[in-house]
Amino acid sequence: MPNYNYKPFDVVAPPELGGDGETQNKYPVAIIGAGPIGLAAAVDLATKGIPSVVLDDNNVVSVGSRAICWAKRTLKIFDRLGVGERMLEKGVTWKTGRLFHGTDEVYNFDLLPEDGHKYPAFVNLQQYYVEQYLVEKAQEFQKLIDLRFKNKVVDHEDNNDYITLSVETPFGKYDLSADYALACDGAGSPTRKRMGLPFDGQTFEEHFLIADVEMDESPFETDIPERWFWFEPEFHPGQSALLHKQPDNIYRIDLQLGPEADPKVQATEEKVLPRITVLDAIG
Ligand SMILES: Cc1cc2nc3c(=O)[nH]c(=O)nc-3n(C[C@H](O)[C@H](O)[C@H](O)COP(=O)(O)OP(=O)(O)OC[C@H]3O[C@@H](n4cnc5c(N)ncnc54)[C@H](O)[C@@H]3O)c2cc1C
Repeated sequence: MPNYNYKPFDVVAPPELGGDGETQNKYPVAIIGAGPIGLAAAVDLATKGIPSVVLDDNNVVSVGSRAICWAKRTLKIFDRLGVGERMLEKGVTWKTGRLFHGTDEVYNFDLLPEDGHKYPAFVNLQQYYVEQYLVEKAQEFQKLIDLRFKNKVVDHEDNNDYITLSVETPFGKYDLSADYALACDGAGSPTRKRMGLPFDGQTFEEHFLIADVEMDESPFETDIPERWFWFEPEFHPGQSALLHKQPDNIYRIDLQLGPEADPKVQATEEKVLPRITVLDAIG
């Protein structure tokens, strides 16, 4: 596990269950989920003077390796929200990538050949930092953003011109009504499931091992971080691999394992360790 310091956010009783703050018969906006999307929505609304209450079933930023590559367009949005510069400062900036087949470099690219842009082509930054920065930004809008951790939305009722959410907390259950509710509860959205809304798209049967490896020495040939992608590398025959640098000297390697791989078995230490020694073979 990377050396990120996971600090749980405070969990307090909501005003509906006797906690501090004013109860409202109806909130303007309720946001279900405090992941990157819910938090970004709350901050964006607050910058326009629109109050919201944010309900999340958890009280810690996302654990482990999730999104890492933030593109220029996304960084510009984060700039508008007031966290872009912080991300740029902490993150690893890159714009070039190399693609290998075996040991042969078959393609390379530069996503931003021009100078003078405020934000680079990409910044690599672990999702837990992005969520932390968004939570801290949201906490600056104390009068406009009511962040409620360990508040799980378990049901909702559509009353045509407003919505009522049923919320479970460690302090008990309560109902909360809002003019609008934003379902930002992730890819497996319970809200969408309750509403019977499909999430059409294409998936392909595959498994990947994602490992964050802390290393003092860079596996790259130069000090300039790049995106390296391999088809059928010698160190991982018949599959693909991807390597990115992240802050805190953490390198993320994504190894394709094939559709038959059993994720539970592959995530064990004895399986993971021999695979990540491939990093010694790179460069
Ligand atoms: C293993 C893994 C690797 C990934 N790698 C990448 C990558 O390399 N690049 C990339 O771009 N993306 C990656 N992703 C995807 C990326 O993490 C998501 O796109 C991103 O988190 C989506 O943000 P979100 O806010 O929509 O949802 P989430 O981050 O899932 O946040 C949803 C929030 O809603 C809360 N919630 C859920 N149900 C309820 C409820 N009933 N009541 C209240 N709160 C609720 C959850 O606790 C969570 O905090 C990865 C994801 C995973 C799991």
